[in-house]
Amino acid sequence: MLENLSKKAVSSYFGAMTFDKKVMRKKLPKEVYRAVQKTIQSGNKLSEEIAGAVAHGMKEWAMEHGATHYTHWFQPMTGSTAEKHDAFLTFDKDGAPIERFSGTQLIQGEPDASSFPSGGMRTTFEARGYTAWDPTSPAFLMKGGTGLTLCIPTVFISYHGEALDEKTPLLRSMSAVSKSAIKLLGILGVEGVTRVNTFAGCEQEYFLIDRKFYTMRPDLVMSGRTLLGANPPKGQQLEDHYFGSIPNRMLAFMQEVEEELYQLGIPAKTRHNEVAPHQFEIAPIYEKANIAADHNLLVMEVMRRVAEKKGMALLLHEKPFDGINGSGKHNNWSIGTAEGTNLLEPGDTPESNIQFLVFLVAVLKGVFKRSAALRASIASIGNDHRLGANEAPPAVVTVFLGELLEKVLDAIESGKVDFATEKQVLDLGLSHLPVLNKDYTDRNRTSPFAFTGNKFEFRAVGSSQPISVPNMVLNTLMAEAMDELADAIQSKIDSGIDKDTAIQEVLRAEIKATKPVRYQGDNYSEDLQQAAADRGLPNLKNTPQAMRTLLDKDTRNMFAKYGVLSNEEMESRLNTRLERYFKGIDIEARTLQLMLKTFVIPNVSEYQGEIAISYNGLVDAADRIGVSGNTLKSQGDHLKELAENLGLLIDLTAELDGVIEKMETFEDEGFEVADYCAEVVLPCMNKVREVADRLEFMVDRDKWQLPTYSEMLFEH
Ligand code: ADP
Ligand code: MG
Repeated sequence: MLENLSKKAVSSYFGAMTFDKKVMRKKLPKEVYRAVQKTIQSGNKLSEEIAGAVAHGMKEWAMEHGATHYTHWFQPMTGSTAEKHDAFLTFDKDGAPIERFSGTQLIQGEPDASSFPSGGMRTTFEARGYTAWDPTSPAFLMKGGTGLTLCIPTVFISYHGEALDEKTPLLRSMSAVSKSAIKLLGILGVEGVTRVNTFAGCEQEYFLIDRKFYTMRPDLVMSGRTLLGANPPKGQQLEDHYFGSIPNRMLAFMQEVEEELYQLGIPAKTRHNEVAPHQFEIAPIYEKANIAADHNLLVMEVMRRVAEKKGMALLLHEKPFDGINGSGKHNNWSIGTAEGTNLLEPGDTPESNIQFLVFLVAVLKGVFKRSAALRASIASIGNDHRLGANEAPPAVVTVFLGELLEKVLDAIESGKVDFATEKQVLDLGLSHLPVLNKDYTDRNRTSPFAFTGNKFEFRAVGSSQPISVPNMVLNTLMAEAMDELADAIQSKIDSGIDKDTAIQEVLRAEIKATKPVRYQGDNYSEDLQQAAADRGLPNLKNTPQAMRTLLDKDTRNMFAKYGVLSNEEMESRLNTRLERYFKGIDIEARTLQLMLKTFVIPNVSEYQGEIAISYNGLVDAADRIGVSGNTLKSQGDHLKELAENLGLLIDLTAELDGVIEKMETFEDEGFEVADYCAEVVLPCMNKVREVADRLEFMVDRDKWQLPTYSEMLFEH
């Protein structure tokens, strides 16, 4: 194991815990090394002939670092990762213990598919699931307990090849993007592009609180968010936390996390305080979307472990504290060629600016047409509390382009200028596009999907969500939009129109058609809600509403057409996510019930008892000590208010009991129960919470067992 890294240059140990190119070159025979590199570039499967040699090299390397076990590391549809560890240990034919790791063990594993959600996919009942190594993502050594485990990033598929995980569809969507982009580039006259990739860089927000508070809050432990808790007198009103100096204890946490991430080859780049107290952000340098997806899962995992080690708790929930800023994961997304051209980056020639406009319009087209699917991709029980609240992007997906691009698109649309000649391109201001940057794309922090210079920033993604799903949807809608643009341009060319005019006409038509999705105003405002209604943009307020759009035939046809998700695979995802939604709310409701009955009601009752005794004593002594009627009345009123609120709390808790009981009576485990959760269970939980939070401010702190918001958010 590597020690004392804090004194070393990061570049000297970056990726030291990964089976990367450098290690492979050292550990593998030359021909094998070359074959693996070729496999990685082509994105194909590793052939069985060389798998044995690769496995051997990998095992030697892992054992040198002290690893004893290996695992296939994959992303089932649970929203997290899964692993089952196997030891290298076995016996040779003489019964002597040896370490072995075969090619078959490397390229294929057989976890019991039935223990992972399949969303009812028929074929998985009788067949086993397979995990297969994804050589594009390097194997790595993960710390945990007192040792290291060799982790092999894999995809998880059924016997018949259906995707049982979130990674397979992401990889498929990346192939689809590549194919469509190369076709569109071909029409624009760009030849020789071998592969087009999408890239992602995610800004991960999180809360970090002292572990002693966390363990005393069943709600945080069970559901990741506080189900009760009055707002502290000081919240984030002073806005003094954002970019403030990082407290020492937190800084030490970040440094240890980063050290581990660097060893895993994860390029952590920025760290800072976020808006709310105890809220922070970490952002890596962007990578290919599939690698970024793996790495983000590792970032979350490493942070969780280091926090625990340091006596803190990591909160990844989208809204752990009511009334306090929630956490998101800004998914910065771009598309570029393997040769290094970012297709969303304006170049320095008129042609490259036209290319830029074509790809920009493709994004507008895709997001406009498939905004419901995009919204659905980030719908979750936690994100429902964040989206549309006054600090996060709303449930309506609009695109922010910034003033300059708005002007350019408007000019093209109105036909005032065209760009048939270089002169006209210059007139249009397109020659200045290369300097488009943050200053030009003036930041609109309220937009769910904003252009930021040479990439789009999808801000509606939730902090706890794996990014595979939103990126898979983004890629697919982009593939479709690029194909449609290519076809439209081609058919004009076929009808005898010259290429430049054809491109121009198609762009003009598309800029006009996609105008409703462009919104430059404040996305937190009433005006946006009105605009959404006027323009017919989907406004899907909660998870069940968003999930319903995945029933849409046309949406499903798109995923099927691009080979990303078959109808059955989509159905299974829909079922799994609905189930996660209502089971999650069931857990929340029951946790709240438990907290009310075993903490809040007993605590308030006890305090009320003391007040009642004290009040009775005062009444008895009133005449003797000469206490006037008014004083008695005030104290009586105080006791009365306490008693009334406690009475109300007990009644509402009984109502919650009834609401929970009814959850068990639903026969259909789908939309009906999910709607019930959104429309009945959550409002009932909010109603009872309001009373409990009021009582928190009326009761002696020593009697209130739960750590308060003030303690969790302001004590270090
Ligand atoms: P912000 O001002 O929103 O914090 P930054 O410029 O710091 O934005 O970048 C935020 C994230 O965007 C980082 O993770 C960065 O790596 C990523 N990013 C930068 N360029 C690209 C790109 N071309 N494609 C995808 N992600 C990118
Ligand atoms: Mg950002």
